Amino acid sequence: PSGKLGFNNDVKLASTRREGLVVTAARAHIDPVQVSAALHQRFGRSLKLRSVSAGGCNGCEMELNATGNVNFDLGRYGIDIVASPRHADGLVLTGPITRNMAQALEICWDAIPEPKLVIAMGACAISGGVFADSDALDRSFLEKVTPSLYLPGCPTHPLTFISGIMDLLGIAG
Ligand code: SF4
Repeated sequence: PSGKLGFNNDVKLASTRREGLVVTAARAHIDPVQVSAALHQRFGRSLKLRSVSAGGCNGCEMELNATGNVNFDLGRYGIDIVASPRHADGLVLTGPITRNMAQALEICWDAIPEPKLVIAMGACAISGGVFADSDALDRSFLEKVTPSLYLPGCPTHPLTFISGIMDLLGIAG
């Protein structure tokens, strides 16, 4: 597939944090093989994501890191947060994008090979959140790149993140 890793660019505003938890609790027993099959069908590989914390309080970044711990175990689905953007299929954006992080975000995005996607994680990434009125922001990146998935929360809960990924893959449950 080309362009968007097989996903369209529809703005997908996932459930609220609370709804996300309820939905994901119901999905707790989704067979990882089902997810692997969906990943393979979508774009023939696992999903590696590089994160950029572009300002904010880092709370969303910490919750993103928690998706890989023994409680949430995102890796069981073949989905991992990786260190190098060159090894990634997409970018997870957290934070409101401060001016001093705007260039670093662009550099990271450019380093991810095509096709690639971006996920906006948390209120800051989606709208600027509590920093929305700050003069210190430069959100021009989002004028060029449209996220494939918006994940609510301040911060976004790990289960909401995993639930959103299931939505993105079209996995019911
Ligand atoms: Fe922090 Fe909330 Fe912004 Fe996440 S959305 S980075 S928790 S202020």
